[in-house]
Amino acid sequence: MVSYNSAKEDIKRTADIVELIGQYVQLRKAGRNYVGLCPFHAEKTPSFTVNPERQTFHCFGCKKGGDIFSFWMEYHNATFPEAVKDLAEKYHVMITERFSESAEQKKASQRKLFYNINEIATDYYRCTLKDPDKGIQARAYLKKRTVSNEIISEFRLGYAPAEWDGLTRTLRKKGIALDMAVQVGLVIPRKNGGFYDRFRSRIIFPIFDLRQHVVGFGGRVLDNSLPKYLNTPETPLFHKGELFYGLHVSFKAIREKGRAVIVEGYMDCLALKNHGFQEVVATLGTALTDRHVRKLKGYAKEVFIVFDSDEAGKKAALKSLPVFSNEGLSAKAVVLPDGQDPDSFVNENGLKGFLELLDHASPMFDFYLEQKLTHRDSDEAKIGVLKESLPILSEIHEFSLRSLYVRRLSERIGIKEDIVWLELKSFEKKSSGKTNGANLKERITGSMVERRFDDLHILNLLIHYPQRVCRLMDCNWKIILCDPAVLDIVETFFQQYHKKERFLPEDLLDSLESDAARKELREALLENSHYSDEEVEQALREIEGKVKQIQIAASIKKAREQGNIEELKQLFKLKAQNMKRE
Ligand SMILES: [Zn+2]
Repeated sequence: MVSYNSAKEDIKRTADIVELIGQYVQLRKAGRNYVGLCPFHAEKTPSFTVNPERQTFHCFGCKKGGDIFSFWMEYHNATFPEAVKDLAEKYHVMITERFSESAEQKKASQRKLFYNINEIATDYYRCTLKDPDKGIQARAYLKKRTVSNEIISEFRLGYAPAEWDGLTRTLRKKGIALDMAVQVGLVIPRKNGGFYDRFRSRIIFPIFDLRQHVVGFGGRVLDNSLPKYLNTPETPLFHKGELFYGLHVSFKAIREKGRAVIVEGYMDCLALKNHGFQEVVATLGTALTDRHVRKLKGYAKEVFIVFDSDEAGKKAALKSLPVFSNEGLSAKAVVLPDGQDPDSFVNENGLKGFLELLDHASPMFDFYLEQKLTHRDSDEAKIGVLKESLPILSEIHEFSLRSLYVRRLSERIGIKEDIVWLELKSFEKKSSGKTNGANLKERITGSMVERRFDDLHILNLLIHYPQRVCRLMDCNWKIILCDPAVLDIVETFFQQYHKKERFLPEDLLDSLESDAARKELREALLENSHYSDEEVEQALREIEGKVKQIQIAASIKKAREQGNIEELKQLFKLKAQNMKRE
């Protein structure tokens, strides 16, 4: 791309990639680079690396990388011209060149128009709220809900009056093509021609992205009519599955405190802000997605989710569990007393009461178990909890975490851990059988490479205790591995270990030939150790024992075929000894 070259160079000279990316991702210095958790894929161990010397970034996990412009485009879902414009503004660089006509430029100017329409609408709703006649009820409502004037102006709250075409007329007056306003979800075409306003008789909450643009709106009724909340539908600017209400303001406080509180409604979010609690955001009436969590973990180390104490709240808690576990963000559940929401709670009990709730929050899975098992501990209830937990557990990728939850579940419901594992395996088998044609390829490759515990454990040991794993070289370790990718890694490891002065497991990535092996190793590199220092010896002995058992079994088979009774006797003795030692 040749356009904007001089602006691009000017920005590059002024901007610092570490400072820029550091605003969105928590970076820490690691040697000459900075590392953090990748905002573009799920990971728990930082593989997202920023290089200040070259002013580039690269993620070793998902392979995304580039310069500040690539980062800006990827993170904000922006076009290249938008990235140049945003960064030029940020670093006070003048753009003197014109951008060449291109599809990218057309997209950028269309989005500029969309933002402009949203701005006009925001102003229109604000004016209506201030209007002595039209806004009177809405102002009274906000006052009743103790929303301060500072909050109203900081969040640019507004009011959509009880008119069918108030905004439509305003947009038309400003020369906006109304079919463009349809595309941002503000007006709706009539069947017989013409347009009408989507939002009517509602308090309006503009929703901002992290570039501080209004990308959509939420509207709440003043009375009890339904729907209580109405949002902008999915548009080119508005993606519910990754937006948080309030994050454009809260991100600084969240970064400072290291924690974020997630509530369900706009009013809940504003009520907490009103009481001086800053690190809060609201979801836009959708379930939490991995994109939500990835965005948040750029700022927070710990997340508190405020749930309703009803059945739907418990289900939502359980559902969001794998989203957090898989992104490595610790999540706790906060439960409010029956019939209360954060808004009413904080207004009644003040900030102190709310902070006490946070202090008593339990980890998400414990919360679910506590909620489910306090009152009815019949066998049916326990089996019900087991069944409900299986799909959730099967979504947790990290083996050690999964084991932890299986153990906890088994303790709480009093069903043996082995049985829980068996149920989990059979659930996974069943659900993988149900997958449709679209996943066929995945299914085929999945069944060809059946991952086995031994493979994963050896790989994990090799990464965290390479020196101690070396001794396996002397036993016939190959016979217990079944994944060819893992076999490849272990073989390469044994070849390389003694050649290097200082062995780093990640260095193996360059030596591996197959993509499957590299992927396998990359994944394994992201996992914590399955064993403590003291447990390693036992783990290695178990592996050696298993190898020996397999060898003895093979020899027994052979001796049987040959009818060699003496040999068989010896082998059985050996087998018994070996089992005892294990
Ligand atoms: Zn990544």
